[in-house]
Amino acid sequence: MVPMSRPMGLSKRIHDGYVLTENDKIIEAGEYTEAKGEQIIKDFGNDLSVIGSQKKGDFTANDIVCNETCLLPGFVKAHGHDHESPIIGIAKDCSLTAWLDGAVNLFTGFLDEKREELTNKFGKSPNLVAYLKARVDDIYYGITSSMVHHCNFNKYRVEDIVEANRQAHTKMIVAVGSQDRHYDDRILDIPHGLAIDRLNDYQKKFGEVERTSIIPGPDQFFSNGPELLKALKKWSMDNGTLIHIHSSEEPETTAWFKKTYEMTPIEYADSIGFLDTNTILAHQVNNTDNDLDIIQKTGAKVVHNPLANTILGSGMPPLKKMTEIGIPYVISTDGSGSADNQNILSAAKAAAQYQKALHRDATFLTSDVLLQKITVEPAEFLRLNTGSLEKGKDADIVLIDLTRPNLIPSRLDNIVENLIWASDGSEVKTVIANGRFVKSDYKFTLPDFETIVREVQLLSEMLTDYMITAAKITGTGAHKYEANTVA
Ligand SMILES: [Zn+2]
Repeated sequence: MVPMSRPMGLSKRIHDGYVLTENDKIIEAGEYTEAKGEQIIKDFGNDLSVIGSQKKGDFTANDIVCNETCLLPGFVKAHGHDHESPIIGIAKDCSLTAWLDGAVNLFTGFLDEKREELTNKFGKSPNLVAYLKARVDDIYYGITSSMVHHCNFNKYRVEDIVEANRQAHTKMIVAVGSQDRHYDDRILDIPHGLAIDRLNDYQKKFGEVERTSIIPGPDQFFSNGPELLKALKKWSMDNGTLIHIHSSEEPETTAWFKKTYEMTPIEYADSIGFLDTNTILAHQVNNTDNDLDIIQKTGAKVVHNPLANTILGSGMPPLKKMTEIGIPYVISTDGSGSADNQNILSAAKAAAQYQKALHRDATFLTSDVLLQKITVEPAEFLRLNTGSLEKGKDADIVLIDLTRPNLIPSRLDNIVENLIWASDGSEVKTVIANGRFVKSDYKFTLPDFETIVREVQLLSEMLTDYMITAAKITGTGAHKYEANTVA
């Protein structure tokens, strides 16, 4: 067991670990002994469910079996998009804004334009079809908590994402998107009060829903004007929430922003009081020294998404400098469409592989540090009661199968290294989210996997047909600027 618990020590590895849960909470975690097993059986007896045992009661200490797995806390994804799963493989080999227009805005625009037809076809909202597949993608790789940046057309479909999270029994922060400039004209929030009304409405409807919370998530600095951002920041302060935004992701768009507004996106954010310890920036790839200085001074936090940053050719953030000056950052996957998967262990590996080679420094970003950046640290970023296996935390647990050939041999001294460097992500055998099995012995138990697969395949095929005649979109950021200049 690797508990990732600060009280136990973040590098603690336990040979015979155990976790005891009751309802949705961990009530004990630590080193297993026979005496401990006897005590648990005495206390809970017939009320006990033991992973790996077929018995339903009358346990003896021998029935608490070694599962040949590594126990970990459920992974925490601090930045992603649940609408992207059906667009894996679409508009590849192009940069961010071209991909936003050619894949994301095309697909979410398709869901919006054909909503009635698609709803009749599936007997439910087509957005729910996409979001449920995204829940499966997370669970497959052991992610039990996430911040979903619900951008572009998705900002109108919060009801569906809340429902998908409810069905999957995961934990979710929904960062609701907004934009009032340099974006697809169909979804601009003009006047900007529309974005605030939307947040108030969602907070009223979904603020009390279990395992879900609502925060402002303006899409990008380039697509949100100062008055809108100030109003959103005020909303987050009034409501005591985090605020989330994409920042300085693509070099071309960052350079265009600087030229257009005579300041960097971070200088812009700072000038309107947007940055503080409750601000979570996704990406922050392109920085000046002054940008890093501002981020460090304001205490804003960064979520690095190495899979998307490399595939979209955005570059990689200066993690070494960020570490040296004390900018907090964690590692995430981004959406399935840009990543093109939710394998958060491989995201951690990609981040380290790139930085070690770039700096010719094999000691930077050790496996222990990487595992912290996908468990305990993002949980702290997101203020969620998860990310470690210890008493009082939510019962979010992953079992990694140590009998897979690529993980043999695994020992106490190499287990974390094996997880980062030798695993391929498919060894996630069992996942418990908030005390419920969501994947058990490689089978999805929640939600209905077969139906989701069938529906998302059909949705993807319908999108392919739609793409043949769909109007080309050139509405986003620098991409729009260039298209208009050429015209
Ligand atoms: Zn993103």
